[in-house]
Amino acid sequence: MHKQGASQVPSGFVSSHDVANSLQASPRQYTLENFEIGKKLGKGKFGKVYCARDKATGYVCALKVMEKKELIHYKVEKQFRREIEIQSNLRHPNILRLYGHFHDASRVFLILEYAGQGEMFKVLRKKGRFDDVLASQYICQIAAALAYLHKKHIIHRDLKPENLLIGLDGEVKLSDFGWSVHTPTSRRNTMCGTLDYLPPEMVEAKDHDNKVDLWALGVLTYEFLVGSPPFEEPAHKATYKRISKVDLKIPGFVSVEASDLIRKLLQHKPEKRFPLEQIPEHPWIMKNRPLWPKSQAEKLH
Ligand code: ATP
Ligand code: MG
Repeated sequence: MHKQGASQVPSGFVSSHDVANSLQASPRQYTLENFEIGKKLGKGKFGKVYCARDKATGYVCALKVMEKKELIHYKVEKQFRREIEIQSNLRHPNILRLYGHFHDASRVFLILEYAGQGEMFKVLRKKGRFDDVLASQYICQIAAALAYLHKKHIIHRDLKPENLLIGLDGEVKLSDFGWSVHTPTSRRNTMCGTLDYLPPEMVEAKDHDNKVDLWALGVLTYEFLVGSPPFEEPAHKATYKRISKVDLKIPGFVSVEASDLIRKLLQHKPEKRFPLEQIPEHPWIMKNRPLWPKSQAEKLH
């Protein structure tokens, strides 16, 4: 099965599967005292993330710190609790582990798996776009993570490059379960923020199911290969229209096989979208798999 943790830890530190698990399973109640705090890894909407080391085991992780006041002020406590509840029960090599959480008088701390290569969003913007070999590798890993979630009746609903981290070995780590839900759902919600990754049934405020993640995977495939999402427009209304009509134009430099997968995922009718289980056998993946780094190709078998 998949090894967890070992390759995530820089040399010189204790690194083992068991140590990773002890962070999760031990009855130990963690406090800030248990950690040596390292450099700041980033800043999110509601908190700051630091590299940290468990003093007892030497295990390196990421510590996300949030002010309780802010969570209350922005009325996101419920969403935040759901995020913790969902993420702490997930075990998959392409899903960021949440080992545990603790709090003090004013802050909440999440103990997260450390993703050594940082954010997919930054890597993609820096590179402009990915070639078929890299993109297919990422898409296959994300598909595996989504298949795992869907089997557990969870829909992610917020798949985009900002919510993907990259591990030290270059593997994708799906994170940010703030919008994810247990199915079934008939939630009609007006979501704020970017529309770019939303499928027709969500922009049209209809009921939706786990097929929304397939649509987002199609958008992501396009974005990895082209550099920007397919329905991007300066105004929300224009993006909405293009999504609703599935106004999809794929540039000529995108390979025939990749275009085929993108078209099959970006189907207006949710039930027509290409199933996750078939992605590893899609010609685009099959053609590129032999060119993946050996370690990545093996992990997906
Ligand atoms: P929010 O989820 O509140 O909208 P966000 O997704 O923008 O916030 P956070 O999850 O708070 O951001 O993380 C902020 C930044 O810290 C990320 O963009 C990333 O660069 C870095 N980061 C977060 N978690 C990790 C991690 N586990 N390993 C490495 N870097 C991380
Ligand atoms: Mg986020």
